[in-house]
Amino acid sequence: MQYSFKQAKFATSAFELSQLPPDQGAEVAFAGRSNAGKSSAINCLTRQKGLCKTSKTPGRTQLINFFALTAERHLVDLPGYGFARVSKKMRAHWDEVLTAYLLRREALRGLVIVVDIRRGISDLDRALINMVGDSLPIHVLLTKSDKVSRSAIRRARDQAQKSLSGLQQSVSTLSTLNRDGLDELESVCRNWLEIG
Ligand code: GDP
Repeated sequence: MQYSFKQAKFATSAFELSQLPPDQGAEVAFAGRSNAGKSSAINCLTRQKGLCKTSKTPGRTQLINFFALTAERHLVDLPGYGFARVSKKMRAHWDEVLTAYLLRREALRGLVIVVDIRRGISDLDRALINMVGDSLPIHVLLTKSDKVSRSAIRRARDQAQKSLSGLQQSVSTLSTLNRDGLDELESVCRNWLEIG
């Protein structure tokens, strides 16, 4: 079935596992440190400026947001991590919910980890990669590539590639300003969203 990322529509939000939509079809999830550029990347992919809110209010309740491309295909925006002012209780809640979601969700075909190209892969990103790397394909998206030189882009790519060891992992860059790298991100997501 033909579909375009432009047709993405907000479907539902979940705070707890019991609120997740039925585990069917195919979905691609996006994770990353707060401020890495995750919302901008999803908005760029779907050509919709306001689909994911890009301004983060500290302390705002975080949710897993599902966006439908078709009835059977979804993009999933996971809560950003590494935000200092989150309470211990809330952190424990999301550790539990996200671990269960990432390791047990049948519909989940791949995880895009959004990384600010200037910071590179952080310890928190690495912990996530180590947790899911054996069971799920991972794509590291080095974003804000317009903020660094071409040689720095090459270095960041090499560094990311080196720190990922498995075969199921890949790396690309993106600038949401000039859309460099958008085709590659789109093709990664499209491949994962093939159903069957
Ligand atoms: P999130 O917390 O991971 O969802 O991050 P946001 O998408 O809200 O982005 C954080 C900040 O980085 C915002 O000020 C964005 O405008 C900026 N940003 C995100 N992607 C890019 C990019 O590709 N290029 C530039 N120059 N800025 C970006």
